[in-house]
Amino acid sequence: MRRLLKWFGLLVLLVVAAIAALAGVLAFKTFRHGSQQIAVAPLAPIAVDEQGAAKRLSEAIRFQTISNFLNPEQDAAALDALQAHIQASFPAFHAVAKREVVNGHSLLYTWQGSDPQAKPIALLAHQDVVPIAPKTEQDWQQPPFSGAIEGGYIWGRGSWDDKGNLFSMLEAAELMAKQGFRPKRTIYFAFGHDEEVSGLRGAGKIAELLASRNIRLDYVLDEGLLITEGVMKGLDKPAALIGVAEKGYATLVLTARGTPGHSSMPPRDTAIGMLAAGLVQLENHRLPMRIRGSVAEMFDTLAPEMSGFNRVVLSNLWLFRPLLLSEFAKSGTTAAMVQTSTALTVFNAGDKDNVLPGIAEASVNFRLLPGDTQASVADHVRTTVANDKISIAPFEGNFDPPPVTGTKSPSYQALTRTIREVFPDVIVAPGLMIAATDSRHYSNVADNIFRFSPVRATPEDLKRFHGTNERISIKNYADMIRFYVRLMQSTAG
Ligand SMILES: [Zn+2]
Repeated sequence: MRRLLKWFGLLVLLVVAAIAALAGVLAFKTFRHGSQQIAVAPLAPIAVDEQGAAKRLSEAIRFQTISNFLNPEQDAAALDALQAHIQASFPAFHAVAKREVVNGHSLLYTWQGSDPQAKPIALLAHQDVVPIAPKTEQDWQQPPFSGAIEGGYIWGRGSWDDKGNLFSMLEAAELMAKQGFRPKRTIYFAFGHDEEVSGLRGAGKIAELLASRNIRLDYVLDEGLLITEGVMKGLDKPAALIGVAEKGYATLVLTARGTPGHSSMPPRDTAIGMLAAGLVQLENHRLPMRIRGSVAEMFDTLAPEMSGFNRVVLSNLWLFRPLLLSEFAKSGTTAAMVQTSTALTVFNAGDKDNVLPGIAEASVNFRLLPGDTQASVADHVRTTVANDKISIAPFEGNFDPPPVTGTKSPSYQALTRTIREVFPDVIVAPGLMIAATDSRHYSNVADNIFRFSPVRATPEDLKRFHGTNERISIKNYADMIRFYVRLMQSTAG
């Protein structure tokens, strides 16, 4: 009995010691890193003509530059009108920069730098917009192409995506040109016209032109991640995320072949049945969830800024990774950050109720995490569907994830510093861009690619993106202009 008690006591002691050791490790890992934020003095606000700038953007929204992949000339007249408006609005900038029209409707401006040794930079935006979803027009508080200035906001399609970026870049350049600024580095302003439908005719052609001139860019800044409030539990401050990585895109067309014929004598395997079974397999066996690369770096950067249990979790992924991943799996938005997504988007088969179709066809769209490739996803589909009567073909326009941009470069640091100067309340961290941007076309001509829009958004605002009631506040718009002024001063001045 006494011996048993002794053993029991020892066991309790061991458990207590193990718990204490675990708590020690968790605490050590949690508090090992302090804030990684660069300390900068907030900038005295640069004087901006807020009302004039708001009016120029408002007018730009009225040109319905809705791009269409199959009908590229659909918005030609609207693009011409928008470009006339740009030329009329920014005379000082047009006096110092060279203007070129690329492939009919894209714009490339060159503001020549004085130092021929310094690598140029490029600011990117797109002129086109997405259409208004049918039957949602009446849900808009202001007509979607009115450019109404109301309640402190500029309303309309493109106010945020992406005429807001395009015009704030030009407002910044105009302001600086008027003040006699002369860049040391050459600054390109590259404005594609078909970003929403692939960017192949716009950004793709501009990048080709730069390559043909042997131009190598230090960095490209394009639209992208935002300054978001309340997106991570335990993080009280708004976070400005710089997209240093972007997902790839692969649509695979699956075609099942069965024996066509009368439905009174159906065979065991039908085209529709086989294809449906294969698609169910794909939904049930998705690609693995992983925390690595830019997402891991984002967690590392944000963790020291967080409070409570969330900080402990993010600082101790060695223990809590499964917990975090099961949380992320609950919503499509968070799952997309840690997984190559699988989306069944098209299904076509059959046209008569008593006839078996010989063919059934479906499209599955994957958005690829960096590390996955079109080839690796096609392999995954082949082995998961495991049916040689189903053929798999890639869609044209698929692309692998572009190379990931490092965070150690002087330009990343300068971008970080600029964000904190203009938006002193925010935390800056690298992140993964879930959607595609024009910037991917620049992989061959740029050392660094950043995807960041100096736009403040709450989780509620995110629905406005490509959605209803898109708008930008005049106050935010003025800060966007200040951001681009400061960025050009600090990286090209
Ligand atoms: Zn956009």
